[in-house]
Amino acid sequence: MNFYSLNKKSPGVNFKDATINGQAPDKGLYFPETIPQVKKELITGIENISNEDIAFEVIRPYVGNAIHESDLYTIVKETVNFPIPLVKVTEDIFSLELYHGPTLAFKDIGARFMSRCLGHFVKGGDKKVTVLVATSGDTGGAVANGFYNVEGVDVVILYPSGKVSSVQEKQLTTLGNNIHALEVDGNFDDCQQMVKAAFLDEELNKKLFLTSANSINVARWLPQQFYYFFAYKQWIEKNNPPVVCVPSGNFGNICAGLLANASGLPVKHFIAATNANDIVPQYFATQNYQPKKAVATISNAMDVGDPSNFVRIMEIFQQQFSSLTAKVSSCSVTDAVTRETLLAVYNEHNYLCDPHGAVAYRALEDYLQLNANDKGIFLETAHPVKFYDVVEPVIGQTVEVPESIKEELTKEKKSTLIGAGVEELKSFLTKL
Ligand SMILES: *Cc1c(COP(=O)(O)O)cnc(C)c1O
Repeated sequence: MNFYSLNKKSPGVNFKDATINGQAPDKGLYFPETIPQVKKELITGIENISNEDIAFEVIRPYVGNAIHESDLYTIVKETVNFPIPLVKVTEDIFSLELYHGPTLAFKDIGARFMSRCLGHFVKGGDKKVTVLVATSGDTGGAVANGFYNVEGVDVVILYPSGKVSSVQEKQLTTLGNNIHALEVDGNFDDCQQMVKAAFLDEELNKKLFLTSANSINVARWLPQQFYYFFAYKQWIEKNNPPVVCVPSGNFGNICAGLLANASGLPVKHFIAATNANDIVPQYFATQNYQPKKAVATISNAMDVGDPSNFVRIMEIFQQQFSSLTAKVSSCSVTDAVTRETLLAVYNEHNYLCDPHGAVAYRALEDYLQLNANDKGIFLETAHPVKFYDVVEPVIGQTVEVPESIKEELTKEKKSTLIGAGVEELKSFLTKL
């Protein structure tokens, strides 16, 4: 399978080059030349197919012969080797818990797949790759964990000093070895600016082979389809497909769900739930896409003012607004309503959401009130403990720390403090 650039000014490339490049030379996002259709039996017999086999079937056409089938199977198997349960919250609402991976965030799935693919591509070569990533919290941890000890790959993570939770900071800074944490004296936008400037810097790119690990990369985006299939596998009423609600920031996650649906996965309707950063809900209301500066919210992994994957969503619907709105709706949930929902779900249904999950829960609940025959799934994208600073005051209780991360929290933070500026970043990178 080849991938073309959505800016249409760079040549098509295979999965390997799309993964290594991240973005096309014309700065467009890569998009598959065709949307493959899954075999009917994958849907009709899904309950009896293992998660590894489902994932392998879904991803194989995209990877093509860029990775040998047996190697790809191993990569896929390692990517999905933790539980992804569908948990009943009410009669009509189910939670797809995507937070049982090593860093307790859904980004583990994309990061694990991408790191293994990139590691596979650089193995034995003389080219060392440096992955450069700016994070507001969750991305960095998942990427760090996924790439830890992958040979031939250095990872440099920029995060805003004092603006990520202590759990997130530990996940970024305690691994060491090929993982380098840069604590930037600035905010997330500064970190992103520095990364962008580094990618454009000719001198730096002559010395180092830089690539990104955000959801722009096809190797991070495409494997996110897997768990939409796993959700359907666990869905009881197969003749009444679910409405699926996705808490969205850069819209990579929901875009993967839409791709899965376009490939044959039954989903009745999608809801893109956002926080106060309502660029997409506004677009649905006005047909006018107006990027804005992101505002800070309690669901901060979705504080995005110009969602990068939105162009891919439009491509799936062939730029037709009417096709888009026939399948997808979008709404925005304020911080106050998010807190209220988190508390109500906890008190009434004994289920603890994280702030991102609570945004999605609320958007789904509102939708189901108007569509009484439907039932739905919301994606729980992070463990509530990662956002304990928001969750604990709302429920008036402490959130229990899962065993799997207890040890990590006792490890020593190792980061390099740097000022907000591309020159500071360049000097760090050239000394790597
Ligand atoms: C990244 C993230 C999101 C948003 O996902 P996108 O693919 O950027 O839309 C939602 N929730 C959590 C917890 C995240 O880390």
